[in-house]
Amino acid sequence: MVIITLQRDKCIGCNYCAEFAPEYFRMSKKDGKSVLLKTENKKGFYTLKIPNPEAFEPCDKAAKACPVKIISVKEI
Ligand code: SF4
Repeated sequence: MVIITLQRDKCIGCNYCAEFAPEYFRMSKKDGKSVLLKTENKKGFYTLKIPNPEAFEPCDKAAKACPVKIISVKEI
């Protein structure tokens, strides 16, 4: 299981996460910030649980590339 968390408010819209992990991140046309797909806002944090362990690598690359370090990726 891979757990991805995005603290969306602090996104600066650089697009790296959508480039590295396009299956999970898209840039919003409304406000230019990243959207972690299929998630809802819980006090500013968006969390996605993915059973497929192959999700870890692209999401980890996105997390490491994020200049403001607002993506966390854990494998449990
Ligand atoms: S890499 Fe970080 S700052 Fe850049 S768009 Fe994604 S969440 Fe936002």
